[in-house]
Amino acid sequence: MRKRLKLPAFVFILLMLILAVNSVTVSAAVGLTDSDIKEGLDFCRDYPVSLTLDGQKVQIDPSGVPAVIIKERTLIPARALFEKMGGVVTWDEQKQAVGITLNKTQVSLTINSQTAYVNGQAKTLDVPALIIDHDGDYYGSTMIPVRFVAESIGCTISWDDATRTVGVKAPAVEPSDEAKDDKDADDNTADNENSGDETVPHVITRPEPDPSIDLTDDNDNTGTSVGSGTLSGNGVFTAMELSPLPMLTENAKKQMIVIDAGHGGKDCGSIGNKGTSNECFEKTPNLDAALKLNAWLKASGATTYMTRSGDVYYTLLERAQKANTRAATLFVSCHNNSNTSSSPNGTEVHYYSKVNEYGDTEKDIYGIESKAVAKLAEKYLVDALQTNERGIKESPKLAVLNKTQMPAIIVEGAFMSNPSDLSKIQSSEYAERYAYAVAKAIIESFNKAFPG
Ligand SMILES: [Zn+2]
Repeated sequence: MRKRLKLPAFVFILLMLILAVNSVTVSAAVGLTDSDIKEGLDFCRDYPVSLTLDGQKVQIDPSGVPAVIIKERTLIPARALFEKMGGVVTWDEQKQAVGITLNKTQVSLTINSQTAYVNGQAKTLDVPALIIDHDGDYYGSTMIPVRFVAESIGCTISWDDATRTVGVKAPAVEPSDEAKDDKDADDNTADNENSGDETVPHVITRPEPDPSIDLTDDNDNTGTSVGSGTLSGNGVFTAMELSPLPMLTENAKKQMIVIDAGHGGKDCGSIGNKGTSNECFEKTPNLDAALKLNAWLKASGATTYMTRSGDVYYTLLERAQKANTRAATLFVSCHNNSNTSSSPNGTEVHYYSKVNEYGDTEKDIYGIESKAVAKLAEKYLVDALQTNERGIKESPKLAVLNKTQMPAIIVEGAFMSNPSDLSKIQSSEYAERYAYAVAKAIIESFNKAFPG
C-alpha cells in the first residue's frame, strides 16, 4: 500500500514542478509570469498603445514587439524612443544589460532585474526590462519601462486614456553641454567649462558592433600614404627621422580605432590669419592629420574607421555614435586649439576616464585607458611638433569624450591663434609629424594591452 502511493505522489510533485517552471520564466521575485505578459500583449493587440515624442507620433518597428502595458506599466522597444532624442542606447549581451545615455544621465537596466542604475545609483523598478517574444519566433525584443527611463533622463510623461497614448516631452538640451561641446578648450575657458561636472560619474556600457556595418571599411579613399626618411623641418621645425613604426600584434589588429577629424563642412573650426590671403580654417589641418594618422595606423595593420575623409559636417553626437556602433576600442579626435589672446601656445590632449555601472575602469573593460594613451600621445606630439607642453586634461564636458562608450582622446595639436604655432600648422610637415606621434602612442599602448 505504501509503495503504491509513494510513486504517484512523487510523479505528481514532479509534474507540478515542471508546470511551475514552465509557466514562470521571469524570476519569481519580480512577480511577473508569462501569463501576465501574454495578457498584456493580447489586450494591447486589441487596444494598441501609441507613443508620441514632443507631439509627434513615434513609429515602432512593425516587425518587432509593439508597446505593451504589463501590470500598469508601459514597456517599449529599447531603441524606439531614446535614439530619436539623440540618446545612445547600448546592449551588453554578456550582462544582459541595456544602457540609455542622454545629456549627462546614464540609465542601466538588466533584463528581469528590478534594480536599475541611474548614474550608478540603484533604483527599484515595479516592472523590469524584459525580453519579449510576442509571435513565438524565438526572436525576442528588449522592452524597457518607458516612464522610469524617460523620467530618469529628465523627460516629462503623460498618459491619454481616450487615445491610449503615452506622451513624452524631451528635456531641454543643456546649453552648457551642446553649445560648448564643439569649442576647443583653451587655458582661459577650461576651468569654467569643466566646473561642477566632476560629481557626475560617467557610466558606460561596452557596445556590441551593429551587425549591419561593414567593419572592414575605413571610409578613406583618399589614397593618403605614410611619409618616409627624414623630414627637413622647412625652416620651422628642426629635422626629424621618420623610422617605420612597429607592426601591431594580431590581437591589437582586431581592435577598432575610430579617427575623427574635428569640424568639417559648414563648421570650419577656429580660423588662423583671419581675413588675410593666408587664412587657415582649422578643419583642414585637422583632416590632413587625421588622414595621415589613418595611413600610419593602417601601415601597422590596424582596423580603423574615419568619421569623415572629406570636407563634410557631422554633429558631435553622430561622430560618437559612429564609434559606438562600431564597438571601437579607442576614439581619437584630431583638432587644433585657439584662444582669444594670441599668447597661449603648445600642445594638449584631453581625455575622460570612464567606468561602467559596476565600477570597472576603462582598463578593466577595454584593456587600455584614455589617460595613459593621452599622456603618451602628448609626449610624442611635443617631441614631433616641437611645441610647448601644456599637458593632459580631464574634460568630462567635451561631447565626443562623454558620448562615446569607450576610451577617447581629443588631440589639440597647436594654437591657430598663436603666430609661431600657426606657422607650424601651416607647414607641409605638420600633418605627418602630428600623425606619426599619435600613431606611435596608440601602437605602443595597444601592443602593451593586447600582446600576442
Ligand atoms: Zn577644434
